[in-house]
Amino acid sequence: FRVTLTPIRRRDKGVVGAIAVLHDVTESEKLEQSRREFVANVSHELRTPLTTIKSYAEALDDGALSEPPLAERFVGVIRSETERMIRLVTDLLHLSRFDSRQSQLRRQMTDVSEMIEDVVDRFSLQLRQKAITAKVQVDPGLQKAWLDRDGIDQVLDNVVSNAIKYTLDGGSIDLSAKWDESGQLSIAVKDTGIGIPRKDLDRIFERFYRVDKARSRSMGGTGLGLSIAREIVRAHGGHIALDSEPGHGTIVTITLPATQEGSELA
Ligand code: ADP
Repeated sequence: FRVTLTPIRRRDKGVVGAIAVLHDVTESEKLEQSRREFVANVSHELRTPLTTIKSYAEALDDGALSEPPLAERFVGVIRSETERMIRLVTDLLHLSRFDSRQSQLRRQMTDVSEMIEDVVDRFSLQLRQKAITAKVQVDPGLQKAWLDRDGIDQVLDNVVSNAIKYTLDGGSIDLSAKWDESGQLSIAVKDTGIGIPRKDLDRIFERFYRVDKARSRSMGGTGLGLSIAREIVRAHGGHIALDSEPGHGTIVTITLPATQEGSELA
């Protein structure tokens, strides 16, 4: 609480009392705290690759340049760390556009079945590399939906790339889409991966929250994928939920209201 005190004065008697106002600052304090944490996280996430780049550049300078096989490896590290920073900054720009409400949805009539087949195609190389089988099941009654195709593509990319990242070789991923009982479009991505411990489930959509930071980093993750997915789904008036069984797998369900053509919710 923050307290403001105002004295009550009487002309002849001076101060005869005071008015105390208690301001509940819990909410703004919390907001300030999460803003501080966010800035600290961003700084840390940028500092890590920068430190690596600096030390590899120094090693090249200190003689590694004259050993071509070594130099090649070091340049490779510098390149991949730079790519990570670009991914991170792109993700941050994305989130900041949502925060400042500059992000407008561009809805179009979208063939859901084709959209889901396309996601699987985009990941076919990674799926093959890890010998993961992907199954697609789209309700035959489901045809087109009015949504921002680029936005939902990004949601699906983030969710499917997680499913692949956190599933061991030889596992499987099921993608399905249907109209649910309440007439909403429901898309589910289910994997047979490592799963997420119960205690982490509530926080998994928070920016930079990761179950295992080292593992996520080594997989090239930024820790922002699910936060971005949630912003895009929310902009559609929808909902994204995640359920998981550690050691068995995870299911992410995206629910989008069946908006009529012509309406614009952004
Ligand atoms: P990241 O870039 O680290 O993958 P995300 O925001 O996409 O960031 O995900 C946050 C964290 O949630 C991940 O670091 C991982 O710990 C966990 N996670 C997300 N999806 C899955 C999944 N399908 N299986 C297991 N863990 C997952």
